[in-house]
Amino acid sequence: MEQQIIHACGHEQGHYLTGYDSQKERKAKWLKTTTCRDCFVAEKRADEVAAAALSSAAVSPCSSTANRHRSANRLGVDDQDQAARSAIQLEQRRRL
Ligand SMILES: [Zn+2]
Repeated sequence: MEQQIIHACGHEQGHYLTGYDSQKERKAKWLKTTTCRDCFVAEKRADEVAAAALSSAAVSPCSSTANRHRSANRLGVDDQDQAARSAIQLEQRRRL
């Protein structure tokens, strides 16, 4: 039979408790110390989001993709530098 349990989060949820009366009682008591399913799922999802944010922040600076990206950026900067330098040289040559 279904038993209404008021969880630690304050929400009421029905649970099917099976087994001997003593087992049901113990399970009911334990359930009262836990959060309801909705809160459990919400909490777990928040944990996953936090963990994902943490791992992506921790991993990306050392990951090979990031390194490749960084060297590509460096090349881009060098190219720009080169272009700027040759533009300056052109300008100087034009002045002479
Ligand atoms: Zn709840």
